[in-house]
Amino acid sequence: MTDSSPMPGERSRTIRQQLLDQLDGGPFSAGELSRLTRQSEREVLDHLEHLLHAGKVKALPASCAGCGFRFEKRTRSKKPGKCPQCKSTRIRPPRFTLP
Ligand SMILES: [Zn+2]
Repeated sequence: MTDSSPMPGERSRTIRQQLLDQLDGGPFSAGELSRLTRQSEREVLDHLEHLLHAGKVKALPASCAGCGFRFEKRTRSKKPGKCPQCKSTRIRPPRFTLP
């Protein structure tokens, strides 16, 4: 078994670069990015937070699949549970794209 994993900092940088590469064809939700980069969704969200903070990524708010309500204030990480307008729980998660 060979272990050629790079330094932790190096690895983070690489994952962020992968995310940016994927988002070039975006937008994608954290779940989709998780599958595309083969990282856990939690890890993807950590990196997305960092990229958002650095201004390299833009978040599109979650929206309601029932009435189209946009969760403008909850653009980051976790998706909301249900729509305050129509009470639907069919919520489209926030998606991420390049600014
Ligand atoms: Zn709704």
